[in-house]
Amino acid sequence: MRETFLPFALPDLGERERQQLQEVLDSGWLTTGPKTRQFEREFAAHVGAVHAVAVNSCTAAMHLALEAIGLQSGDLVITTPYTFAATAEVIRYFDAIPVFVDVDPETLNLDVRQVREVAAALGNRSPSGRRFLPPALGTTAPDRGFGTLKALLPVHMAGYPCDLDALYAVAAQHHLAVIEDAAHAFGTTYKGRPIGCSPYPGVPSAVCFSFYATKTLTTGEGGMICLSDEALADRCRIMALHGISKDAWKRYSAEGNWYYEIIAPGYKYNMTDLAAAIGLAQLGKAERMRQRRAHIAREYTRAFRELPELQTPPDKPDGQHAWHLYVLRLCLERLTIDRDQFIQELKQRKIGASVHFIPLHIHPYYREKYGYQPEDFPVAYGEYLREISLPLYSKMTDADVESVIGAVRDIVARYGRAAISSAPA
Ligand SMILES: *Cc1c(COP(=O)(O)O)cnc(C)c1O
Repeated sequence: MRETFLPFALPDLGERERQQLQEVLDSGWLTTGPKTRQFEREFAAHVGAVHAVAVNSCTAAMHLALEAIGLQSGDLVITTPYTFAATAEVIRYFDAIPVFVDVDPETLNLDVRQVREVAAALGNRSPSGRRFLPPALGTTAPDRGFGTLKALLPVHMAGYPCDLDALYAVAAQHHLAVIEDAAHAFGTTYKGRPIGCSPYPGVPSAVCFSFYATKTLTTGEGGMICLSDEALADRCRIMALHGISKDAWKRYSAEGNWYYEIIAPGYKYNMTDLAAAIGLAQLGKAERMRQRRAHIAREYTRAFRELPELQTPPDKPDGQHAWHLYVLRLCLERLTIDRDQFIQELKQRKIGASVHFIPLHIHPYYREKYGYQPEDFPVAYGEYLREISLPLYSKMTDADVESVIGAVRDIVARYGRAAISSAPA
């Protein structure tokens, strides 16, 4: 049993971050400036992106990306219910409609076969497509047409890459944009390419990263939009800072640098140099942190693989797993306790744990707005009921890892049905 509580997540911060921050403090330039530009350049190089726009969250990144592709009120965006609030709320910012499609039971990423079917039905605007719309919309306006399908918004769940070849093929066929929610996927590769550089000509796309405190690279709060299209990148850059055109600066440079032009009512989403400084330090040790997480994940899987009460996460993606989360699934029929009790038992053994995710369609807002039932996305709902995320971060010591393994094994031994039926009377 541990002496101290093991938090579910902790950032890996140290001397590098301290030095970078000191430079910013000493320079007197706190907001967007040279550190942010340097972080954009180095991040773009790291993931092989043509353009990188630093912002203050992944939520902001996705909002700007959807704005740049021209999302309008009433438009449809196919996305996953198995995600965090941000993924669908950014669609609602436009009064556009998130069309949820269920996930693959193994990877918890969008089920590509279903995406293909839904995109075909909605993309052709055939009346039969209506059955894929949120139930409340499908029934209350039976003879009204529905909006235009504009984009796919997949999530690389836990850092396991989506099948991008298949998703971009669907997008190309139906003239859709792809906005990748890569909040978990800094460190992920797909077919040898880092997430962030999706090279699919003809499909407008943006890859959005999160640098929230728990993510695989942190700036406290922060995000990045990676794009290959220059016009989309320019639009994101301009809208990230009040819709102020930088070109105006260049054009009117003779009038001095006080001059600017507002070309649209933009947002205040810029990254500060304080945040970028932390990001630069984190970039320098990203590979070391990833390798440590991968090592811990392998240790977990080795320890849990043989236990029939547990299902370990998939770890042979078509590429490299970033291991943002270790997604353990309980085989509930083999246990006498449920997921919530399992987490309580972990807590009693001083191990922090979490759940990723409560599917969006069972939250009050989406349930009431769109008339969803939990069973509308049976995989997302079923997996949610048996999912536990274990601590997985580079600051964990070998003893921390052992204590997690010990606690999980102990709980399974105590509450496994096999253990009970075979125990001597
Ligand atoms: C963390 C997270 C986000 C939001 O990131 P922020 O930087 O906090 O805006 C979006 N999507 C997923 C899947 C996440 O886990």
